[in-house]
Amino acid sequence: MPVSPKLIRTADAMFAFSRDNSDKTIALVPTMGALHKGHHELVREARRHADVVAVSIFVNPTQFGPTEDLDRYPRQLGDDVAALAEQGNADVVFAPSVGEMYPDGEKNQQVWVTPDRMDTVLCGAFRPGHFRGVTTVVAKLFGICRPDVAVFGLKDAQQFVILRKMVRDLAMQTRLVGMPTVREEDGLALSSRNRYLTVEQRAEAVVLSKATSVAHSLVESGTRSADNIRSAMRREVEEASLAKIQYIDVVDAATLRRIDEIEPGQQVLAALAVFFGGTRLIDNSFSVAP
Ligand code: AMP
Repeated sequence: MPVSPKLIRTADAMFAFSRDNSDKTIALVPTMGALHKGHHELVREARRHADVVAVSIFVNPTQFGPTEDLDRYPRQLGDDVAALAEQGNADVVFAPSVGEMYPDGEKNQQVWVTPDRMDTVLCGAFRPGHFRGVTTVVAKLFGICRPDVAVFGLKDAQQFVILRKMVRDLAMQTRLVGMPTVREEDGLALSSRNRYLTVEQRAEAVVLSKATSVAHSLVESGTRSADNIRSAMRREVEEASLAKIQYIDVVDAATLRRIDEIEPGQQVLAALAVFFGGTRLIDNSFSVAP
């Protein structure tokens, strides 16, 4: 029989749990639920870093834009807790209400953790306010859960780079671990949003990982012109008749600054966002130039 993780619904109870376990190390895996294999890999990784593993499940309203999918984002807490029990790696599930996380209502949030510049490129250029919502909610989660370690997926590369900078710039005492992207057999990155794809869109969605693989090979084989890499990625995506490119870019992996000429030894992030109908998919690859 799988042992169910302890379900905690209030910030006070979560904080009390963390304090009661202050003699142990705690790992936190922040998620918005609708858990898939990618999330479970993060939880499994968390187990390797700490005595106690907490998974937070919270669909954070402040990271969704006014025209985004907040209302239709899948919510399935019962299934998620059952799946975590089945996997056996989570000790606690922290699933607060919006009121717990935003006591005065999210519209009355007045003090934010706001990234500087790093949130105006890549996804941030098209999702104003998104990363401010992410940094703010993660700072809250860190305050409530007091984790020694937090595990995030590199699938959300810009999120990871910004959070790593947040921890450094705000002297937070949580160590971040980045997990490689978990993929379907054909390369499509697992995402809670893949379920929105039609059969035809799903078949074509493989172009995202093809494009980021091409970028990876080009960087690692010594291509210096970032524009050539952007063009090669674009050609891959244009193979898909149903794809609408939002952006394709090649940036420095630490600063997220746009690159013209890749320098020897530079760590490069190639990233893209593509719409299939109303569904927005992202992917990326990290590479080190020779
Ligand atoms: P989300 O529920 O979409 O906010 O994702 C929660 C965490 O899971 C984030 O750190 C994501 O980067 C990570 N994640 C989502 N999809 C994947 C995947 N396919 N592989 C690895 N990590 C993932």
